[in-house]
Amino acid sequence: MTRELTCIGCPMGCELTVEIENGEAVSVTGNTCKIGENYAKTEVSAPVRTVTTTALTEEGKPVPVKTAGNIPKGKIFEVVDAVKGVKVKLPVKTGEVILADAAGTGVDVIATKTVS
Ligand code: SF4
Repeated sequence: MTRELTCIGCPMGCELTVEIENGEAVSVTGNTCKIGENYAKTEVSAPVRTVTTTALTEEGKPVPVKTAGNIPKGKIFEVVDAVKGVKVKLPVKTGEVILADAAGTGVDVIATKTVS
């Protein structure tokens, strides 16, 4: 079977065609670079994403955050819910961990902006 994907590796958004056998990508076409091939292979076997969202301080001030790495796509909502349960203590610096091992993914959620 084949699957059509749009690469999210950069703003070019190359249209990819992936040949799949037994749940694994056996060939990828339409990519301009290796990132697209790697994205397509991961997307058909074990899709992952970096999540960006906003946490709140104890005072209700927004702090932009993101996962420090990719997490399984199926865990996105769990991670976002876990971030909602955090009350960040100020001041917070860029890169500071605001939630360790988010939703059991082994990936931390970190601040992407210094807020004082
Ligand atoms: S295949 Fe390469 S050039 Fe095309 S969208 Fe993906 S990262 Fe960008």
